[in-house]
Amino acid sequence: MSKACINSVMETIIHRNPREYEFHQAVREVLESLEPALDRHPIYEKHKILERITEPERVIMFRVPWIDDRCEIQINRGYRVEFNSAIGPYKGGLRFHPSVNLGIMKFLAFEQIFKNALTTLYMGGAKGGSDFDPKGKSDGEVMRFCQSFMIELYRHIGPATDVPAGDIGVGKREIGYLFGQYKRIVNEFNGALTGKSLNWGGSHLRPEATGYGCVYFAREMLRTREEEFKGKVCTISGSGNVSQFTAQKLIQLGAKVVSMSDSDGVIYDPDGINEEKLAFIFELKNVRRGRIRDYAGHFKGVTYRDGAKPWDIPCDCAFPCATQNEIEEEDTKTLVRNGCYLVAEGANMPCIPQAVHVFQEAKILYGPGKAANAGGVAVSGLEMAQNAQFIHWSREYVDAKLQELMKEIHDNSWRTAKEYGCPGDYVVGANIAGFLKVADAMIEQGLV
Ligand code: GLU
Repeated sequence: MSKACINSVMETIIHRNPREYEFHQAVREVLESLEPALDRHPIYEKHKILERITEPERVIMFRVPWIDDRCEIQINRGYRVEFNSAIGPYKGGLRFHPSVNLGIMKFLAFEQIFKNALTTLYMGGAKGGSDFDPKGKSDGEVMRFCQSFMIELYRHIGPATDVPAGDIGVGKREIGYLFGQYKRIVNEFNGALTGKSLNWGGSHLRPEATGYGCVYFAREMLRTREEEFKGKVCTISGSGNVSQFTAQKLIQLGAKVVSMSDSDGVIYDPDGINEEKLAFIFELKNVRRGRIRDYAGHFKGVTYRDGAKPWDIPCDCAFPCATQNEIEEEDTKTLVRNGCYLVAEGANMPCIPQAVHVFQEAKILYGPGKAANAGGVAVSGLEMAQNAQFIHWSREYVDAKLQELMKEIHDNSWRTAKEYGCPGDYVVGANIAGFLKVADAMIEQGLV
């Protein structure tokens, strides 16, 4: 019965959202895993929750004109997808990357609904961004772009309405420019954005939160097999914010991190990246905004492969932290063949569906992004709570909270998977647990 319902909803989605492939992919993955819950609770079908939850409450698209350093006019497109507000104000990051389009925004906003529900905090799901490419742009260009972007976005956001934050291409610098312009327009200093700097309303540990949270989640996964990170060989893809802090926490816990990458290629350091080498990467990526290949030129015994990914490097644990669909079916088979038995996603939807099936069939520990990378938005939620009270919590307190939240997300996903007949399957557990919370809230609030 629910299989037929899922198929018919999927058909409508494909028809109504043509060519939005990533959105179709994200929806299909969630809907298929909900089957045991839909079978058990016919109330969701009666209230047409699948039809409603897959239709965004609001989609905003706008022109972003700005002037580059050569005084030439540039035009980009801005987006904000306010997908679901059943359990709190819209919440989710902004992505600035040339690949951004409506389908990618919608997939990210859709994922965010369930991720935010899992955090146990009161946040709805949203995402936004632009096809603007910050790579190679001067600070002045980035500032002018951010100011123009905010001149439209400001009217849609606010601390109790919609609270954007960072994502790919949007970090401390961009949040600073966006917040400055927002404050200037509305003449109010409030918590309409998270990921702010520490000395003007930001939270301790927000920069670290996604990466640290991902490792805390993976630590719980290992615990189910009575294991720990000490001595484990780990591969990481990417070298941005999430990858950097995933590496840092893994190193602190005694793991050996042997790879990082960027859109040009991958480095393999068989001796392991230590704190000192990681400091080089922080400087290279965050200050000089250089390429990862420089790492290989700087340290002995390191190989660099142009255009390659880290998935053929033998490891115990893999952390895809770059972007969507970066792991294909062949990569998964290689990973499993080489003995990898834990994958925790720091990125959003880094595995194509066939890759996920390989992990599920191999019964390895596989932590999907909406559970494993929820630490970032969880600490954003803590930043909102601090802003609302005009107070500031200590680093130790926020770290303890983050660890507690990641354990709760893990245990809830684990418990729910078991309850619905798929023990050990975090995909089923995370999707059903997130869905039930949002769906129940939607029913209680009536047809809106
Ligand atoms: N962009 C992050 C994510 O994918 C964080 C969003 C936020 O902090 O609002 O979850």
